[in-house]
Amino acid sequence: MNLFSKHFELTEKYLSKIFDACNNMYFDNSLIKIPVNIIDSSEVNGYFKFDIDFENKILKNPRIEISKTHKRPYEALERTMLHEMLHYKVFLELTGGEIAAAFDAYNTENTDLFNKILYLENYAHGNKWNSYVTDINNKYNLKIS
Ligand SMILES: [Zn+2]
Repeated sequence: MNLFSKHFELTEKYLSKIFDACNNMYFDNSLIKIPVNIIDSSEVNGYFKFDIDFENKILKNPRIEISKTHKRPYEALERTMLHEMLHYKVFLELTGGEIAAAFDAYNTENTDLFNKILYLENYAHGNKWNSYVTDINNKYNLKIS
């Protein structure tokens, strides 16, 4: 069975290989490997998540989650993986200054600014992520949304 087999089994090992293939093909292997976990959700195909450590003012444990009910075939799965990997790329580009500013905003109860700086909630699919999607769609003739 190869990566593009129609009869693949959705396992974390398989998803990890898709991450590697996408990282190689679309990101020149620039994204540090993170876990790709399977979740049981019928509401979404995938998530990019990370933990917010308010005590130490750091962001940690970035990870991608893919629903086990994800619609096939491979191309759809790759689109979801790329969607989440672009969130991860935006996350990786956060600077120390931005992260510090986000925690300052949180401490002054400015949750909206906190979310805006960290591209959370309504800001997740905002300008930066969206411009990366447009770039990659144009460059590789894809239909990520
Ligand atoms: Zn998203």
